[in-house]
Amino acid sequence: MLLGIALLISVGLLIFVAAPLLAPETQAAAALPVDVTPQVDLKRRRLVLYENLQDLEFEYKAGKLAPDDYQALRVDYTAEAAQLMAASQDLEVQSTEDAQIERAVAARRARRTPESVPDYTCPKCGFENPLPVKFCGECGGKISPRSKKA
Ligand SMILES: [Zn+2]
Repeated sequence: MLLGIALLISVGLLIFVAAPLLAPETQAAAALPVDVTPQVDLKRRRLVLYENLQDLEFEYKAGKLAPDDYQALRVDYTAEAAQLMAASQDLEVQSTEDAQIERAVAARRARRTPESVPDYTCPKCGFENPLPVKFCGECGGKISPRSKKA
């Protein structure tokens, strides 16, 4: 009895330790760069799913799968694919909305009058010095930069 429990624990531990090594798919997901967008991730998962479906088809035709198993797996995969499709459509709607918001914000920002721009116009001769200067490039008069509303 005690031996059985010990054996069970050690087997469980072995599976726990080895599982990440035995699952290359999970590892690939964990190794994904952080900047992968949900959209790209969904697409990748869909591709994997389609590959699995093709494998399934292949194995069934090769007689390696019982018809029942084949049907069950096929239903599973198809349902998952449909889910991924729906999720990615949702995301697309979302990103379209995001793009509209971004455009609206950009338009609003473009309409906003710039805040104070330092002005180096010479008070004496009126020359608009293009660079921050202490003395006018035209007449040599002293410039004290003010702010002007553009
Ligand atoms: Zn001047």
